[in-house]
Amino acid sequence: MQRAELAIIGGGLVGASLALALQDAARARGWRICLIEPFAPGGGYQPSYDARSTALSYGSRLIYQRLGLWPAIAQRAEPILQIHVSDRGRFAAARLSAAQEGVPALGYVVENAWIGDCLWRALDAEVVSWRCPAEVSRLDALGNGYRLTLDDDSQLDCDLAILADGGRSGLREQLGIGVSRTPYGQTALIANISPQQAHRGQAFERFTEDGPMALLPLADNRCALVWTRSCADAERLLRLDEAGFLDELQQAFGYRLGALRQVGARNLYPLTLIEAEEQVRPHLVVLGNAAHSLHPIAGQGYNLSLRDTLALAETLLDSHAPLGDFATLQRYVRRQHSDQQLTVGFSDRVTRLFSSGEPLLAAGRNLGLLGLDLLPPAKHWFARQAMGLGTRSL
Ligand SMILES: Cc1cc2nc3c(=O)[nH]c(=O)nc-3n(C[C@H](O)[C@H](O)[C@H](O)COP(=O)(O)OP(=O)(O)OC[C@H]3O[C@@H](n4cnc5c(N)ncnc54)[C@H](O)[C@@H]3O)c2cc1C
Repeated sequence: MQRAELAIIGGGLVGASLALALQDAARARGWRICLIEPFAPGGGYQPSYDARSTALSYGSRLIYQRLGLWPAIAQRAEPILQIHVSDRGRFAAARLSAAQEGVPALGYVVENAWIGDCLWRALDAEVVSWRCPAEVSRLDALGNGYRLTLDDDSQLDCDLAILADGGRSGLREQLGIGVSRTPYGQTALIANISPQQAHRGQAFERFTEDGPMALLPLADNRCALVWTRSCADAERLLRLDEAGFLDELQQAFGYRLGALRQVGARNLYPLTLIEAEEQVRPHLVVLGNAAHSLHPIAGQGYNLSLRDTLALAETLLDSHAPLGDFATLQRYVRRQHSDQQLTVGFSDRVTRLFSSGEPLLAAGRNLGLLGLDLLPPAKHWFARQAMGLGTRSL
């Protein structure tokens, strides 16, 4: 029987970030951390035209800076210098700029594989051990911790189990943790695009009657597209040939970056807001997408999870109680409650407002964009939410 003080189920970006946030203290306190992940991280980062990316907020940069990982991530992070928010067919547009907000960048777009590679390289094998490829098939509460059963029937006991196994977490269900689901009736189509002109660090959020789209600046003058459409329409766009797809995208996006020339692999993500009804139990924390999965158009999901991760690490390290103590875990939930409520609410409202073709809402949106551009305090507030600096100072 293997033992670890902490078992992190899921070595995705959230699970690996928690291991990094805890590893120095774990070394000092003699805690062993075990990360269990079905997909081998090895092989190193391979630049790929088709890679999926994440928009890291300026707040996330500050967190990775604190964890000592930013210099590595920054090597392939494309700064967002301006965000241009517009509505197709309407006059109003709003521009947010890093210079006006007094920050070097509003955020950074980084390939997920690169963040993962930086994280895995930074983990100290003497403190953090991997069970990989391996999958947890069962979780059983013991009086003083949890017993994990892996897919090879081996078992591991721990004082604190972290469920970071993603939005479709089967283990959350197995434990009887309820979720609230709000389907948006939309699907996000993701692809990388090459524009004719240099993107110059500009990110575009564009709202159309068929759904919102974001085009984010990526390294090597590529742009990461997140295009939200009805589920049937997204399926149709997926099947179009390259020329047909680029033509339709160009019509929806316009010519702000000149002709759109090349598109990489297209992938679909059906969109549902999922919120777990419990995030902690004695000796258990539900973290990352397993705790809350958000609509990607506002680019808040991972950024929120990273703030949760840092808050959880700090709460555990500030506590003098044994690892897994319920009162400590409840303190973490209280600490993150307003950030989670605000971020989920902000993301949900932005999505609904900007997805609607309903004339009154669309007119309100047009006024909202005008107001945002003309009223510096409103713009500053919006920028701080988008940068992940809205609810607490980092
Ligand atoms: C299209 C799209 C675009 C997005 N863009 C942004 C963005 O720009 N900015 C932003 O902030 N957020 C964005 N997000 C959200 C972001 O991707 C998620 O918040 C983030 O991936 C959550 O990470 P996670 O580690 O919690 O979950 P995941 O990335 O799903 O990782 C879960 C891990 O658990 C492992 N696992 C699953 N089951 C088991 C098991 N039984 N045992 C062991 N391991 C298991 C999986 O293999 C996986 O590695 C986007 C999401 C989507 C869908």
